[in-house]
Amino acid sequence: MNLILENLLGRLLLEKDISAFYNFTDQVNNENKLIKICAMTSVNANKVRCNRCGTIHIKTNVKLPIGAFFCPTCLDLGRVRSDEYFYHLPQQDFSEKTYLRWTGKLTENQEKISNALCQQITNNQKLLVQAVTGAGKTEMIYQLIEQILSHGGSVGLASPRIDVCIELHQRLSRDFTCQIPLLYHEGDSYFRSPLVVMTSHQLLRFKEAFDLLIIDEVDAFPFRDNDMLYFALENAKKINGNLLYLTATSTDKLDKQIKKA
Ligand SMILES: [Zn+2]
Repeated sequence: MNLILENLLGRLLLEKDISAFYNFTDQVNNENKLIKICAMTSVNANKVRCNRCGTIHIKTNVKLPIGAFFCPTCLDLGRVRSDEYFYHLPQQDFSEKTYLRWTGKLTENQEKISNALCQQITNNQKLLVQAVTGAGKTEMIYQLIEQILSHGGSVGLASPRIDVCIELHQRLSRDFTCQIPLLYHEGDSYFRSPLVVMTSHQLLRFKEAFDLLIIDEVDAFPFRDNDMLYFALENAKKINGNLLYLTATSTDKLDKQIKKA
């Protein structure tokens, strides 16, 4: 499979995103049978929804001089315009193999939680691990990550905090054998891997990609009770994918999300 196709598996990209790594032409679009999704959809005569972040806008507030609408909410990731399209290809499995090289030992308590997670994460689960800083919650999720990866699945780790992402990326790169992309702000340094670390906004560039999405420091601003990012989580995970929230505290919205599961 060529690079453009690989980089589109499980992703939701605008033509300008794709142009960053490929000279995009209509010919490529047709040959490769990319799935084309309208960037914005009219909800009714007055409202229009952005299909990247899910925000519904009043048309007159977001109308451009050329007559098309745009989404101000997810502008940070590049402007979405109603006369443009997203491109997507369905996610594919990775090769089934062992990636974990960490040989450390969990405490009895950590092991209990690790085992419980491995048993409970099956299909479409939402789980919350509340652990104080320094309780070793990263090591507690290693077995779970390995379980998904060894079956050819994909795992995403997201946090609203860039410092948390950088630290997670360093630790996972040390403790797993695969190359792991670290995605943050505008630059798209993506390459295909079964394990991806990203800031929470980057989730909006994925569609039905992950068997397991882990959200660290979910209580940190700006993720806290942010409708756009809960929308992103639901879209970025596979339809039967799982969500695991790691947090030191909890929020009303989060509690409701978990109870729904
Ligand atoms: Zn948007």
